[in-house]
Amino acid sequence: MTEYEAVIGLETHIQLNTTTKIFCSCKADSWFDPPNSNICPVCSGLPGVLPVLNRAVVEKAVLLAAAMHAEIQTESCFDRKNYFYPDLPKGYQISQYDKPLARGGYLDLPLSDGSCRRVRIHKLHVEEDAGKTKNERGRRLIDFNRCGVPLVEMVTAPDLRSADEAAQYLIRLRQLLRWLGVSEADMEKAHLRCDANVSIRPKGADYLNPKTEIKNVNSIDAVRDAIAKEIERQIREVEAGRRIEAWTLEWDEDSGKLRKMRSKETEADYRYFREPDLLTLHIDDAWKNGILKNLPELPLERRQRFMEQYGLPEYDADLLTGERSLSEYFESAVKAYGGDPKRVSNWMMNDVMRMLNESSRTAAQLQLTPEHLAEILKLLDSGTINTSTAKGLLEKVDASGKAPATIVAEEGLAKVSDDSAIRRVCEEVLTENPKEVQSYKGGKVTLIGWFVGQVMRKMGGKADPSLARQILEELLR
Ligand SMILES: [Zn+2]
Repeated sequence: MTEYEAVIGLETHIQLNTTTKIFCSCKADSWFDPPNSNICPVCSGLPGVLPVLNRAVVEKAVLLAAAMHAEIQTESCFDRKNYFYPDLPKGYQISQYDKPLARGGYLDLPLSDGSCRRVRIHKLHVEEDAGKTKNERGRRLIDFNRCGVPLVEMVTAPDLRSADEAAQYLIRLRQLLRWLGVSEADMEKAHLRCDANVSIRPKGADYLNPKTEIKNVNSIDAVRDAIAKEIERQIREVEAGRRIEAWTLEWDEDSGKLRKMRSKETEADYRYFREPDLLTLHIDDAWKNGILKNLPELPLERRQRFMEQYGLPEYDADLLTGERSLSEYFESAVKAYGGDPKRVSNWMMNDVMRMLNESSRTAAQLQLTPEHLAEILKLLDSGTINTSTAKGLLEKVDASGKAPATIVAEEGLAKVSDDSAIRRVCEEVLTENPKEVQSYKGGKVTLIGWFVGQVMRKMGGKADPSLARQILEELLR
């Protein structure tokens, strides 16, 4: 039986998070605004108006291009892509065609088997977004707010080999976009949109078969599901002796099924020509270098450095570099703590990240600073507080912004290591629980943990648990 492999390419559109639109000064983000409230003669396509290129769009696109290892072009041009659709009031979209902002480039995906998949892109160009249409009670409504929102388009080479790799690409791309601060990259809000080209071939073959294009997928899970379904369908078709036709498919989120759409347009249909109202875009070295001064260490580089410099396992390094402010938090905490970085990593992965997830915040938004975390670890190391107090302290510092030592002093949280005080409570617990004492003496020694728990509860969590355990064992002997 023939074994097949998938050949997948992704076309992504990324909304840049500039304050204003690409060719006018309308507000770009309309997520919370009523329809048609952020429009002007330029972006709604009235005659006699001229577009002016937004400098911030170029700067964010250049930063992204550099992070994708693409070659930024000294000269690039804008073109009109002509088509009719109700959400496109001008009758054309200003895009870039044969002279894009950047060429070449790639994104590396670390795979679960430790290898790395390099996904190439041919070019990166900027363009304007179109509006939105929706059906409501039998009427077709149009919202032009999105007209003129800046987009970057990147198309990958057919370098992806499975539905899961396609999902990984989007996860890494989203991470990079947020890391650079060029896009919110929220697929549910259409900041990041993706169409997938899918074909199959016998494993190891080097030719390409006809592909289908999947549109309208608006979450990473949907991309994974839709591609997996389409790969299965194509294998069934080929094994039944049928040919794959170059369909455009639409993903229906509700039913989890792919539906056939209209036949594909070819590029000639768009009748591209140079945009006469915009000059050639020149990006000289001085401007480019000025932008690239703000290019941070990239997520994969930092991930690698965390493994080498701090001796972290790959798993830790991956989690801690999942988001830029989290990785910066970790480094600041390690510096302030001065002890074992792995210990800081454990506390961040178990406790700090849980706090972040529960409150949907980023590390930059915590009141608990890296220095606070380091101080709590030091209080723990010196034996001033025990582990359960330390965990509670994280929440208290985050809620109040007060220094850990202040809260320890104010609330009397310092660990009770006073032998006689603990001994008194241990005796109480044993007197109050004769049945458990009986079971323990009968051989159920695992009850020791329960006894320790009772002592801790009575002492408000402040007892030194190892000392309590030692005393209990002695009393139960
Ligand atoms: Zn406008």
